[in-house]
Amino acid sequence: ESEKLAADLQGVLELFEGVIAEHEAELGRIDAIAGDGDHGQGMALGSRGAVEAGRRALERGAGARTLLVHAGTAWAESAGGTSGALWGAALTAAGRALSDDSAADDPAKMQALLNAVDAVRRLGGAEPGDKTMIDAAVPFSQALEARFGESQDLAAAVTSAAVEAQQAAEKTADLTARLGRSRVLGEKSLGTPDPGAISFSLLMEALGQRLGQ
Ligand code: ADP
Ligand code: MG
Ligand code: MG
Repeated sequence: ESEKLAADLQGVLELFEGVIAEHEAELGRIDAIAGDGDHGQGMALGSRGAVEAGRRALERGAGARTLLVHAGTAWAESAGGTSGALWGAALTAAGRALSDDSAADDPAKMQALLNAVDAVRRLGGAEPGDKTMIDAAVPFSQALEARFGESQDLAAAVTSAAVEAQQAAEKTADLTARLGRSRVLGEKSLGTPDPGAISFSLLMEALGQRLGQ
């Protein structure tokens, strides 16, 4: 059971890598408007590094916790950049919510997702309205907890929360950036969504679809 969870998580990392590869150019274009244009590249390098580390961990027989902690470290190291450090922390925090030796039930998996978002918030120090991935991640967390509480259906809750995240990500176009590299060009970002909020919502949408299969 715990081995199956580790293999499932490796599948999620591979899914993330594929989704990012598909959107790499678009994420770079969005980041180029007010940032430095490397968000697609950073996410691609990070997710690829995480997949490679996850594969090595699986080969050594690692459980879910160890797999995600190693994948998170590799994401941060491979990506560089702000979002790399934050995604690395997210994966590592999700891993620490899981065990190497036992399977996780749906409440435990949901808690791992909530912990991942909390880690991004703590490490990055951004608040909603700062025009960062937090503007998508916090509505995602809130909707996830509420929908899961109503339905006890993790796939449906993640899918529904991902819709909230996507809408919130698009709404960041109305904000000017106050944090990160793009703060200098904050005004320039008006009318364009935050790339990190967009990539977050894309990955959560894919996760919801996968859980529902
Ligand atoms: P860099 O800014 O180092 O070039 P990326 O382009 O990969 O890194 O990522 C930029 C994204 O990182 C932003 O769009 C934003 O979503 C996210 N980000 C930046 N600073 C923070 C922060 N303090 N908290 C949360 N997210 C942040
Ligand atoms: Mg950038
Ligand atoms: Mg950069």
